[in-house]
Amino acid sequence: MNFKDNFEKKTKERIISTVLELLDKNPESNVERIFSLLRKSIKDEYSLKIVEDVYVQYSNSPNIQEYVKNILKNTDKNCLKKFFKNMLGNALWYGVSKREKIGTDNDIKIPFTLLISPSMRCNLHCTGCYAANYCKKDDIPYEEVDRLVKEARDLGIYYIIVLGGEPFFNEYMLDIYKKYNDIYFMPFTNGTLFDEPLVDKLQSLGNVMPMLSVEGFKKETDTRRGDGIFNSVMKGMDLLNEKGVPFGASVATGNNNINTVISNQFIDMLYEKGARMLWYFMFMPVGDNPVQDINYMLSPTERLTLGKRTREIRKEMKLFPIDFFNDAPYVGGCIAGKYYCHINSKEDLEPCIFSHFATENVKNKPLLEALKCDYFKELRKRHPYNKNLLLPCPMIDNPAQIREIVKFTGAKPTHPSAEIMIKDKEFIDKIDKLAANFKPYADEAFEKEFNSKGNYDMSKG
Ligand code: SF4
Repeated sequence: MNFKDNFEKKTKERIISTVLELLDKNPESNVERIFSLLRKSIKDEYSLKIVEDVYVQYSNSPNIQEYVKNILKNTDKNCLKKFFKNMLGNALWYGVSKREKIGTDNDIKIPFTLLISPSMRCNLHCTGCYAANYCKKDDIPYEEVDRLVKEARDLGIYYIIVLGGEPFFNEYMLDIYKKYNDIYFMPFTNGTLFDEPLVDKLQSLGNVMPMLSVEGFKKETDTRRGDGIFNSVMKGMDLLNEKGVPFGASVATGNNNINTVISNQFIDMLYEKGARMLWYFMFMPVGDNPVQDINYMLSPTERLTLGKRTREIRKEMKLFPIDFFNDAPYVGGCIAGKYYCHINSKEDLEPCIFSHFATENVKNKPLLEALKCDYFKELRKRHPYNKNLLLPCPMIDNPAQIREIVKFTGAKPTHPSAEIMIKDKEFIDKIDKLAANFKPYADEAFEKEFNSKGNYDMSKG
């Protein structure tokens, strides 16, 4: 780290430490003081503008104020401080200039977050999931995960999402969370392995915010994942809530559960349980039988209703929802290979968790070198795939794109379903039809609800 970099990190750490002291004393009543301190201390215009924007949103919305105060009051102090230090201080502030500098020097884009699947093993055997086919020897070895996380941090990545398989089924990840205590980790979990010792451990670590997967209520969850699973997830949420460990929920939406998971009843249930965030994903045709998977995907109106409902829930702000697809206009469309990427359990570097194609494998290869690949360059060159940012995806909205990109860059399928996506005539006909059907609905919604505008500045990274 050079002198300037070190100085910048130290200055930012000093400001964050003062904020943390305020959070330690009486967080709820110190919110105004924290904003005023940030305003006085921050020198660069870009960060100052972000603070001002957040302040305007905060002061104009009693619901946001309630949400923030609730978090400050009910979150364990250590977890709160780690969130502030790692996520806000490192990932969203100190890390920005670091990522930008390394990105500019190397003519690449360093992602804001790295997704990693260290192991595909799982304690459950859900319908349609292929995790049961994996054993321990298929895991990425500890030393390799350690190297990749360290390299990510050296590049300025301080926010890491852990997938799988079941992240808490893999014993060594707790050691990784402990070792990299300046990074914020977000494991997406089936939510069934939380017991007192594990939750105590997470409380003392402070830098891990689990996202617990639910498909709806008991009926929807147990039908897909087995009897008793819903109750087990609820028990996990209760334990986390009691200890003040922040957590969220993650929901895969298909035409079987959409009405349930956007209902007031479902949101209230998660709020009562203490969830702070909610991720909505759309069921994607990337499982063992992609041709059949298409039948379970959301219809055009269901997909757009999900987006509308997400924006409503965000206004009510009992918890903070993100809709991975319908929020695309806010981030310039597709973010794959630019703001995020995924290392699978074979160490292939994929641009997106749903896009199982790669040209690089990071075994014996520095992450920085892999990020320089022509494949990711080509993706960024083509972003956004559609001027209508409600049609962000190269696989389901603009499916000719994925076929062209793979041909052009020589990217190889990393999962058998990906091969089907680009070669199987029945699948191609079905997905092209699905995209064509959705387009007029999306065009109308983009014009009506977004005034045909989105964050095009973010499109190119
Ligand atoms: S490839 Fe599709 S699913 Fe992945 S980030 Fe882009 S738009 Fe989203």
